Amino acid sequence: MGIFEYAPAPESRSVVNLRSSYGLFIDGEFIPGNGKPFKSISPATEEVLAEVAEADDADVDRAVAAARRAYERVWSRMPGSERGKYLFRIARIMQERSRELAVLESLDNGKPIKESRDVDIPTAAAHFFYYAGWADKLEHAGLGPSPKPLGVAGQVIPWNFPLLMLAWKIAPALATGNTVVLKPAETTPLTAMLFAEICQQADLPPGVVNIVTGAGRTGQALVRHPDVDKVAFTGSTAVGREIARSVAGSRKKVTLELGGKAANIVFDDAPIDQAVEGIVNGIFFNQGHVCCAGSRLLVQESVADEVVDRLKRRLTTLRVGDPLDKNTDIGAINSAEQLARITELSEVGEAEGATRWSPECELPSSGFWFAPTVFTGVSNSHRIAREEIFGPVLAVLTFRTPSEAIEKANNTPYGLSAGVWTEKGSRILWAADRLRAGVVWANTFNRFDPASPFGGYKESGYGREGGRQGLEGYLQSGEVA
Ligand code: NAD
Repeated sequence: MGIFEYAPAPESRSVVNLRSSYGLFIDGEFIPGNGKPFKSISPATEEVLAEVAEADDADVDRAVAAARRAYERVWSRMPGSERGKYLFRIARIMQERSRELAVLESLDNGKPIKESRDVDIPTAAAHFFYYAGWADKLEHAGLGPSPKPLGVAGQVIPWNFPLLMLAWKIAPALATGNTVVLKPAETTPLTAMLFAEICQQADLPPGVVNIVTGAGRTGQALVRHPDVDKVAFTGSTAVGREIARSVAGSRKKVTLELGGKAANIVFDDAPIDQAVEGIVNGIFFNQGHVCCAGSRLLVQESVADEVVDRLKRRLTTLRVGDPLDKNTDIGAINSAEQLARITELSEVGEAEGATRWSPECELPSSGFWFAPTVFTGVSNSHRIAREEIFGPVLAVLTFRTPSEAIEKANNTPYGLSAGVWTEKGSRILWAADRLRAGVVWANTFNRFDPASPFGGYKESGYGREGGRQGLEGYLQSGEVA
């Protein structure tokens, strides 16, 4: 409890013009789907926000055919400088409509408005600006003298950063001259539908972007479609494996961005208050629904008590509740299923003997909520140290020497990201060299920039998104030089 209470500071919903139902976006138009429509709810209140069409195999087929036509007749023939203009236009409209996108994202996903407003939407627009700049410079990307697009990309994304993951997928695909069929996650389809309106507003030629909604079966129909040349997937390792199996032996090029269990390593010379902020951002940002979350805190034994004490004190100041309140730090868990998984793994943590702690906080009575949770006394063999929880749950482990820290950090089937907190530049470089992770943050965490490549080692997947490297997955020519 703070010294004084905050008054509610809700962002207005009136900026969003929610329709009661949404169709599929195929060939530049919204059309009904053949499947059984499903409801998208607000995870904070369980209120039904809209009904959304479900695409069956025939709908997916129609979307892929539209993408193929647009690829052959228009998009692959258009000079890069012209494609770039469309991407710049989309980016600018996203900025103009950023408040609307942010409110809708928070409503549909449950994330705090300050995150959708300050991180998700600006970073999504930044990806379009960044790749717009590449569209007419592909021959200078180190990917050969005249790199060629692949054709039609089938893209499947998760629910944790709906619009941002859409941008990570669509911006590089369009910049390189491909057309796309994208399937958003079934719990968070609404900002993708607003994005479809933005494509119309930008006069994007019909069929260049198609959006099919539905659950796993729709995703399956898309990635297995014989006329898809490229599959890009972000989501769970289990589904990633299934997709890799289903496209094996086909001509399809695949990139997979899967789970993680990142180590956030705090050395004894780290600036402790700064590290505590980084630990909080690492695991409680977006309710911990982050594939690169710093879910394992590795702290040097000599400072462990102090770090954990200060961390707990800091957590008592976090505000959990209404995602649309501008003062909210932690919003709702995205779905009942995800809440059940977080609850179950946390119970396993206790049963395995780790010590569980949460600050006192009142959770709303409807919707899906989980208090920020810290487990101490965790060892590497505990399931909470090995499995991705994908929620606001931190496992704290300790180490004595730097090499023990590296050994523990790398002792995981994943390898998406890691964090290092230390005063010494030489130690940062020493650790970054040894950590088997696609991204290593030093004295910061969860920083995203469109110019910086992102992707995994080991079971975290393959291929890179972002930066010059992110172009490669959408072009025919060889490796990044
Ligand atoms: P998921 O992998 O089941 O879903 C991700 C996307 O894939 C969704 O759009 C879904 O509809 C689609 N999909 C599901 N089955 C498919 C199939 N057989 N073929 C093609 N597409 C399919 O992930 P989830 O259910 O949303 O979450 C489960 C776990 O995944 C989480 O607990 C978390 O550990 C992990 N996850 C990771 C990320 C990440 O960014 N790496 C994101 C979300 C979830």
